[in-house]
Formats: sequence, structure tokens, C-alpha cells
Amino acid sequence: MKIEELLARTDFNAIGHEMYNLIVELYPICRSITGDGVRSTLDILERGIDLAREQVPSGTRVFDWTIPKEWNIADAWVKNAAGERVIDFKRSNLHVVQYSTPIRATVSRAELMAHLHSLPEHPQWIPYRSSYYAERWGFCIEHDRLQQLNEETYEVCIDSILSDGHLTYGELVIPGASEDEILFSCHICHPSLCNDNLSGIALTAQLARLLAGVELHHSCRFLFLPGTIGAITWLSRNETRAQRIRHGLVVACVGDNGKFCYKRSRRGSAMIDRAAEHVLRHAGTDFEIRDFTPYGYDERQYCSPGFDLPVGSLTRTPNGFYPQYHTSADDLDFVAPTNLAQSLRRYLEVIDVLENDGGYANMNPKCEPQLGKRGLYRTLGGFADAERAQMAMLWVLNLSDGDHHLLDIAERAGIDFATIRQAAQLLVGHGLLEKRSA
Ligand code: ZN
Repeated sequence: MKIEELLARTDFNAIGHEMYNLIVELYPICRSITGDGVRSTLDILERGIDLAREQVPSGTRVFDWTIPKEWNIADAWVKNAAGERVIDFKRSNLHVVQYSTPIRATVSRAELMAHLHSLPEHPQWIPYRSSYYAERWGFCIEHDRLQQLNEETYEVCIDSILSDGHLTYGELVIPGASEDEILFSCHICHPSLCNDNLSGIALTAQLARLLAGVELHHSCRFLFLPGTIGAITWLSRNETRAQRIRHGLVVACVGDNGKFCYKRSRRGSAMIDRAAEHVLRHAGTDFEIRDFTPYGYDERQYCSPGFDLPVGSLTRTPNGFYPQYHTSADDLDFVAPTNLAQSLRRYLEVIDVLENDGGYANMNPKCEPQLGKRGLYRTLGGFADAERAQMAMLWVLNLSDGDHHLLDIAERAGIDFATIRQAAQLLVGHGLLEKRSA
């Protein structure tokens, strides 16, 4: 099966629900950049895809960084004088600052307050906070509930362990005819957060599952990594292999109902940038294009100057641009199966462009070939829009001169790539066009 057949046959409605159900299953797990939560997440993903798991020991140098100690947590709470849990990790894993050091103590109200984080502007949401590289402890709490903490002292417990262990990530390669690769990278280090983290995991896993059944030109590499340190670790262990990456996307924030946003690679006009922008331009929905910035997700590692890989990021509302970002309101109600399904479709459309772009030669370049006598006008009925299909055929014939590939033609014609690709395939079938380069 080719990618275009996959696009035509996929039941996006059903797959949207599959992705959502995976998010529901992964939601309660307390993930961080290391630890059992990451491994449990990979255990669940391995049921659907053939992931290889890599474990890199704490203390390993990865470029300018060092793999930190592994963090695991069993429980955490703050109790009042009556022994009631006024903050309870068992109720939400966001209540504990990630990588909190263990503590068991009775503290004054003032001391407790110095360790609490809340969001006065959203008093019913729990913020998400981490402290990976500075050892400290803390809790996150709804601002409304923080204001009710009026007792003199509180008992505090964080039953966590920071010890030598591993950084764990999952990797999968689907080989294509070529060693040239398309990279899909998502982060797996956030606890109960749906759009940031889980939506990217669900979409990436679904892509890996679907593309395993496709006859591919490119090899496709899927990385499920803890953010920042995971991508740095992968790049430091795969410097040579990384050079095979011809196109890449960081997958995140694909489950909310916001408009699509493509963040360009550092190069700005790489094939992936053109393909993603083209797909969004013809998708029929509102979208936004942003230039590269050295901030955000792991594109900042892939696009660091020593690598400068053509890796962009295709999201819906980007990280930091929705109020629920990094709070307990990025929950199961914030993402929806239909949004996930639509995002998956956009990703497959981008892959269609990357897979099917190529240069063709017009076999009848002196004046237009007579399309009628070859029955080509009759075939137009097979297209969604016959008039557009006819224009696509004329554009493909006119620009297949050795200098233009199909995406160039689609851009110049202002016609969606799928129609241009379909027209080219039809002309090849009638001997009017020949493929010259991938
Ligand atoms: Zn995040």
C-alpha cells in the first residue's frame, strides 16, 4: 500500500477514538524525564508498535549535559492538624514539583508557603512545575485551596527517591527503499497533561502503526523521548545517523481545537517547511506559520547549529499559547478524538508530499499533447473537482521540464499537492510523463 492509499482508506473517526483512548490510559501515570512512569508509558506503547527501548545510565555525559539521577515517587501529601490530606499526590500527580527531593517534616505555615506554587489568575487549576537540575522540594496547589491553609503548622511528606538509574527512551525505525529518513519526535516526560505530551505520544504511535503497513521511499524514525535531555542524549549517541534525517517534525499539542500552527525549521525553507506550509494552505481551515525560534520543544536541539537538521514542528495551539498549558486544565476534556484525527490527517498529508515529490519529464514537450484523443478528459470524473484536475494536468505537463518537482508545480499552480500528484500519476499511465528523480 502507498501513502496515498493509506490516506484514502483510513477511518479517521475510528482512529481519533483509538488515540483518545490511549491518552485516557496514559493520563494517570506520573511520568518525568526519568523513572518508572516513562517505562510504564513505553510498556503500554509497545503493545501497539515494535519499540526498541534504550537505557542510558545516570552520570553519562551527553554533550554539555549529564544524565541526572533517576526520580521515582510513591506518595506525597501535606496534612493538617486533624491528619487530613490537604494536598494529596494520589488525587493528582501535578501536586508535586517534579524531581522533588524526599522530605518528612513538620513545618510552619510560612515555610510551607515558600514551597507552594499556585496560579492566582486561574485559582482552580493546579500548575505543573519541575526542578530537574536544582535539588529542592515543592507542591503545586489550586490557589483557592492555598488560601484556606490557615493552620500554624503542617506535616509534609514526599516519598520520593533520587538515585543512580537510567534515562529511558523508545525508538522505532520503519525502513523504506532509501536510507534518507523522516524523523517524528515526541516528548514523554510530562505527568497528567493531555495536549502537551500525551496528544503527541498518541499521534506519533498511531503514525508508526499506520506507516508500518506502507511501502515507503523514506525510512521513518520515531523517537519517544524525555524533552530536552532525551533529544540531547539521542543526538549525542547518533551523530552520524542524524545526518540521514532529510525531514523531521516534532509532534506535540495536536489534540486541542485550536487552529494549526507550523513552526519552521531553523533553515526556514527546507522541504519540510514547504511541505507543511503547502498542506496547511490547502487544508481549508485557518492556520498560522511561525518562524523558527531557539525555544519550544526539541526542535531547538535538532536545529542547534552543530546539527541544523530540517526539523519543524506541526502543532495546533503551540506550547505556551493556551491558558491551560502546563496546568491541570490540560486534561481529558481539553483534547478530543476529532481534533486528534484531523491532526493525524494533516501529518499524513505532509508525508504524502515528502514521499511523492519528484521530478518528471514531459514526453511530448512540443506544444500541448492532445488530451481528448487519449481519453484523459473522461478520467476527470474520478477527481473531486474536474476543473481543478484539468488545470493540474496542464500545469504538470507545462512545468515537467527537468527543473520543477511536483511540489514546485503545486505551489506555482496554487493547486493542492494531492491533485497534482494524482494528475502526474494519470499522465504517467498514459505515457505522457516519465519520472526522472525522487
Ligand atoms: Zn510541556
